[in-house]
Amino acid sequence: MIELIDIGVNLTNKSLLEDADAVIQRAEKAGVKQMVVTGTSIAESRQAIGLCDRFPQQLVSTCGIHPHHASEWDASSLPDLKAMAQLQCVRAIGETGLDFNRNYSPPSAQEFAFEQQMELAVSLKMPLFCHQRDAHRRFVEMLSEYRDDISRLVVHCFTDSREALIDYLDLDCYIGITGWICDERRGLDLQQLVKLIPADRLLLETDAPYLLPRNIEPKPSSRINEPAYLPHILETVALHQGKSVELLATQSLHASRSFFSL
Ligand SMILES: [Zn+2]
Repeated sequence: MIELIDIGVNLTNKSLLEDADAVIQRAEKAGVKQMVVTGTSIAESRQAIGLCDRFPQQLVSTCGIHPHHASEWDASSLPDLKAMAQLQCVRAIGETGLDFNRNYSPPSAQEFAFEQQMELAVSLKMPLFCHQRDAHRRFVEMLSEYRDDISRLVVHCFTDSREALIDYLDLDCYIGITGWICDERRGLDLQQLVKLIPADRLLLETDAPYLLPRNIEPKPSSRINEPAYLPHILETVALHQGKSVELLATQSLHASRSFFSL
């Protein structure tokens, strides 16, 4: 029986939260024994910690402010994050980074929040959970200034170009792969690119409830993604890396454990 860790679950999202018990039960049945709940704002990071208290065997979390929420950053954000980050269940700072796709928060606010969270990760010697969309150049520029002092970082939900991937691997980043790779059209580039990711740098994640893998048959009527579908992503990555599902499962489990100290 394979064992997996889903390193990116938005379990505080309404569509999963109400059903958290069942979601976690179905995940365990599918071999997904542990999940990392993504903190995307102060309130959601608190909620994530609350979930970890309820399910200490299955859950750990991150705490951070997502680029979409960067304009919410205020004087209490840093002390709040710092206090949460000291808790035993919190294993990384983030989700942080840059998202210039829709600029829900202005780029200047995103850059400020990103910088603050990089500094926090450095001072607490904690790993960083990063998000980058349509902002690769600026993201790398900012990250490079801190990279030497950050222990480990993951660029989660990687969907970018070959050049971006090479930049991240040069910066010794972990790469998070989602069900994007299961998309028969949008996922074609990623299906080629996963061949370049070393076994000890590849992490698997659903990013649930988003990004339902398109190769699930039959498609769940809710269209809601959940950690129980992580094996579909595992199988698709293994297929394109030309390795067995068992080997990839072992390798990604090991990489996830070292990243989050599980
Ligand atoms: Zn993200």
